[in-house]
Amino acid sequence: MTPNPQEPSFRDSVDIMFNRAVALMDLPPGLEEKIRVCNATYTVRFGVRLRGKIQTFTGYRSVHSEHMEPVKGGIRYSMAVNQDEVEALAALMTYKCALVDAPFGGSKGGLCIDPREYDEYELELITRRFAYELIKRDLINPAQNVPAPDMGTGEREMAWIADQYKRMNTTDINGVACVTGKPINAGGIQGRTEATGRGVQYALHAFFRDKEGLKKAGLTGGLEGKRVIVQGLGNVGYHAAKFLSEEDGCKVIGVIEYNGAVYDEKGINIEALKTYINHSGSPDGFPGATFTTNGAEMLEEDCDILIPAALEGVINLGNAARIKAPLIIEAANGPVTAGADDILREKGCVIVPDMYANAGGVTVSYFEWVKNLSHIRFGRMQRRQEETRHQLIVDELERISRDTSISWTLSPNFKEKYLRGAGELELVRSGLDDTMSDAYRTMAEVWHGRDDVTDLRTAAYLVSIGKVAQSYRAKGL
Ligand code: NAD
Repeated sequence: MTPNPQEPSFRDSVDIMFNRAVALMDLPPGLEEKIRVCNATYTVRFGVRLRGKIQTFTGYRSVHSEHMEPVKGGIRYSMAVNQDEVEALAALMTYKCALVDAPFGGSKGGLCIDPREYDEYELELITRRFAYELIKRDLINPAQNVPAPDMGTGEREMAWIADQYKRMNTTDINGVACVTGKPINAGGIQGRTEATGRGVQYALHAFFRDKEGLKKAGLTGGLEGKRVIVQGLGNVGYHAAKFLSEEDGCKVIGVIEYNGAVYDEKGINIEALKTYINHSGSPDGFPGATFTTNGAEMLEEDCDILIPAALEGVINLGNAARIKAPLIIEAANGPVTAGADDILREKGCVIVPDMYANAGGVTVSYFEWVKNLSHIRFGRMQRRQEETRHQLIVDELERISRDTSISWTLSPNFKEKYLRGAGELELVRSGLDDTMSDAYRTMAEVWHGRDDVTDLRTAAYLVSIGKVAQSYRAKGL
């Protein structure tokens, strides 16, 4: 995508949104600047011998704010990675963690690479070398800086990073906590892979419970039957679209990928489309749907909910005026530029901001980090004890039923559901749901409660900057 010269950079876009909120706050002189600036960005260039020659790669790890440590943020593999992008994403991590009460500062990393160009063995060599460069400078460390997956990376890369850290720090008993988003058998947690998409679903549940918010978006009713368009069927977009269509009755009418988009007003079967793309590499030819090569145009189609879940800047000065969706939920980071945000707010479009909408990933990453440090699976100590206590109640109810003349029975499945104690996945989901509901409530109170706040993004910034400011004050700054 060629940047529009009138459009600020991603980093500037984040700062413009930050400044809009700060103008409504009463912070001590200088604190606003301290919070806004990025503390440090490390650039590394390293060589890896591949296919008979040395190839040089460029990577970054940016630390935006260390008001809490460790700092946290994903590692992205993409050809578009650059310092401005990594710094913008690190800033968003600071605000996101504060908003959902994940006790971390903000960081982000990226490697300028197209992962599709390399096989698994080559990617492992490159990832281990990149991790080595960051680990030896404590830019990957369970107490200081904990990465996670982002665009172009997943649990496989996180497992390589964790293993590389352990090889270099053999006596660190908490070594596995140096990175989150790992596979279960390498210290991961149930529910992390789908956590960001699941968080998008919970965010929409919270939004649809907010009658005033719905009214502002001009929407009525629940999620059932709502027409959804999703951009990016990767980790975040796929899980969000899958849960919304399979569990909430949404109709996903459009899916946009980098090489084209498919449309079907009857609703697309997400699982079938994902399998199709995995085999053919493109949505082109997916049965029953209309294919178009210019995917970006589908962002402008009529729908109830638009979910950009691919990359930043896709809704910009060039197309914002033509966007018809009354509700946009930013599953990706920074999909709406500051200029587009102004146009959309004027039109009355409600935007559920990235720092909240995609916070499910860092929330469950926090649970994974805590699990790693405590060296025990959530629920392991309590589950059987909980089941035993529930059994006592069920036995007592059944005894009362036998010993009295009143005839009643427990409803079908009650016993089975009630008796089952919570395992790790149930606990992760409940913690995530609670976090997303709570964070929505704090944003909505500001959004609906202050006359000078007209959008959810400003409300989100006000809440999170307020929390970061409190941390700085507590440190004596
Ligand atoms: P991913 O690499 O798994 O998926 C990205 C998808 O977008 C891929 O299917 C890719 O083909 C598609 N895509 C790329 N360019 C596109 C284009 N121009 N048009 C349409 N589709 C395009 O990445 P992800 O982890 O799902 O991340 C997506 C977004 O969500 C990013 O902005 C990321 O920062 C954000 N995010 C991810 C997580 C996480 O846990 N993975 C957490 C928070 C935020």
